[in-house]
Amino acid sequence: MNIKFALAGNPNCGKTTMFNALTGANQYVGNWPGVTVEKKEGKVKGNKEDNITVVDLPGIYSLSPYTLEEVVSRDFLLNEDPDVIIDLVDATNIERNLYLTTQLIETGVPVVVALNMADLIEKRGLKIDTKRLSMVLGCPIIETSALKGTGLKELIAEAVKVAKQGEHQLPGAIFSEKLEEAIDTVVPALSETIATNKKRWYAVKVLENDEKVMNHIVLDAQTKTTIDALRKDLETELDDDMESIVTDGRYTYIQKIISTTVEKPKEKLTISDKIDKIVTNRFLGIPIFLLIMYIVYYISVTTVGTFVTDWTNDVFVVAIQDAVSGFLSSVGASGLLSAVIVDGIIGGVGAVIGFAPQMAILFLFLSILEDCGYMVRIAFVMDRVFRYFGLSGKSFIPLLIGSGCGVPAIMASKTIEQDNDRRLTIMTATFIPCGAKLPVIALLGGVMAGKVAGWEAGGMIAPAMYFLGIVAVLVSAIILKKTKPFSGKPAPFVMELPEYHIPSVKTVLLHVWERLKAFLIKAGTILVVACIVIWFLSTFGFEGGSFGMVEDTANSLIAVIGNVIAPIFAPLGFGNWQSVASSLTGFSAKEAIVSTMGVLANVSGDTEDAVNVAAGVAQWFPTAMAALSFLIFNLLDSPCLAAISTMANELNDRKWFWFAIIFQNVFAYAVSLMVYQIGSLVLYGTFGFWTVVAFVVLAFMLYMLFRPDPYKDQKVYSTRSVEA
Ligand code: GDP
Ligand code: MG
Repeated sequence: MNIKFALAGNPNCGKTTMFNALTGANQYVGNWPGVTVEKKEGKVKGNKEDNITVVDLPGIYSLSPYTLEEVVSRDFLLNEDPDVIIDLVDATNIERNLYLTTQLIETGVPVVVALNMADLIEKRGLKIDTKRLSMVLGCPIIETSALKGTGLKELIAEAVKVAKQGEHQLPGAIFSEKLEEAIDTVVPALSETIATNKKRWYAVKVLENDEKVMNHIVLDAQTKTTIDALRKDLETELDDDMESIVTDGRYTYIQKIISTTVEKPKEKLTISDKIDKIVTNRFLGIPIFLLIMYIVYYISVTTVGTFVTDWTNDVFVVAIQDAVSGFLSSVGASGLLSAVIVDGIIGGVGAVIGFAPQMAILFLFLSILEDCGYMVRIAFVMDRVFRYFGLSGKSFIPLLIGSGCGVPAIMASKTIEQDNDRRLTIMTATFIPCGAKLPVIALLGGVMAGKVAGWEAGGMIAPAMYFLGIVAVLVSAIILKKTKPFSGKPAPFVMELPEYHIPSVKTVLLHVWERLKAFLIKAGTILVVACIVIWFLSTFGFEGGSFGMVEDTANSLIAVIGNVIAPIFAPLGFGNWQSVASSLTGFSAKEAIVSTMGVLANVSGDTEDAVNVAAGVAQWFPTAMAALSFLIFNLLDSPCLAAISTMANELNDRKWFWFAIIFQNVFAYAVSLMVYQIGSLVLYGTFGFWTVVAFVVLAFMLYMLFRPDPYKDQKVYSTRSVEA
């Protein structure tokens, strides 16, 4: 038999973990709400008799149609007729979770409650009388732990049984007598096109005057009058609007059943609570976060990272280069082919591949921090900071994800309800250095360290760039929030702080591998192509009046193109064609900046082999400041094409898209200009026309930052029109 399960529940109650456990899939288990925005489907493994499909729905607190998640989940439950809803209830938050349950049991779809996080019930000193609770709610309850994998067999068996029975017991009275009477009056008046078992749900919604439902169903004039009268009566009698009356009714009902089925321990601080006292402390929270991120980036890029990367470069890449060039000459390949492969592809891709170990280490740390439950605390801590600057903590989640990759970061901003804050987040999410930018940081960090004797810039630069990213986001937010299109108070941010737990080795390794795999695929596809193109453009050109391979790379095609654009960047300190060419290829993928530098350094004979890309690159930057300015520009300018097209999709508006692109590049230019000009003035005493311009830009930025907010008193939350 074909059976369809729908997994529904609050954010963070373990739906995705359950989905993965049931299907053997490896969906992203986020430690924060909003990770699963789209529904995902999978097949239940290990059940031979039936063909069971599970659908993982986005986490929701209610079936009201206000957020995108709610709309997605609700449409699925009502229109796609799953055979069973598996309602995941987080046992440690049972009261709040049951709110959704009271709505799910009304939909007419059979419900099986999975009382998840059962492994924590005893630990928390909770006592839950599941038998009684099951009786009151009128649906089976199975204790499960998605994390530990217990109770899953029973859950599947029960859900299959319920699906096969096919009938569903509607809940008894949930609301006050008056309201139940009203529902009973509405139910028979509803048109026959609505299935009998769904009528109660529609009756409640119609009474609530739910806009979506009202537009969706047809009511004859007389029924409509009756319903309006009923609603009005109740509203006057209880002196409240209908939606609130229904909401209150549900909570009262939950209170009542909880009081007889759940026994809570006297307030006792768990270890998690104790850790949180320090980690989310008003004063300590942020310094601790900064310290942790500092350590993460420091270790990834220096110490362990450098050690492994040096080995990869010195031993591995050189060995491959030698072996391949030896092989090619032994089989008599042409010099041209050998040059493309050895200088172009291996020189370029090799320059990037060397950084794979550093990325792996960064991803490893980030995954551990996420899986153990720390990252979600940071969103909570940052909510306070962000709110101060007019943004919601919800905007911080995309930024955290952005430290891995900008594409999912931009997609994660979907969950921000307000149009203005969502746009702002999409525009600024890629200011946070993603994994692909790490090689660029490491390479340029090395160049800087080489320029300034005794200055360990290489180690400090990675954490510094991460903080620069956060500051860039905040500065943009402050500036833009004071303009009309972005004004408005942030929406409240509700979030669960799950218990800390030892990260699961499987989840962590999986995350690291998935990101690394994406990187390797990129290296094998986009970067190879970029390297070949760059190699071609830097090897061929017009010399002595004819087209062909050039002696001097300065005559190559890319040098000619680069030299046309280069003057634009002269005020930023890197007005040479090599830097310009590298920045341009950065739009294909940010690692391509490094691979292009590898190719150019190899081809122009600036360096002997891939190992010394940094030495070759160093020649293009007269000072450490120039290298820093180049790095900053490439971190803040528009992201790679993949992220740009995600931006276009999510902004879904040509005007906003171009605004975002212009904003990113102008902002990057302005910051690099200030850093280079003012930095050079301080360090080397250089002063000129562009120094003056830099100060003017600085003055303008400071004005935009500190001018009074003209929209300060705007109280209204700007909301979003949810498209169904
Ligand atoms: P979703 O938002 O409902 O999809 O929740 P996730 O599946 O992403 O899980 C949220 C967090 O709860 C993760 O850190 C999981 O490891 C954790 N979690 C999920 N199920 C359980 C469980 O049964 N017991 C415990 N202790 N933790 C769980
Ligand atoms: Mg999920």
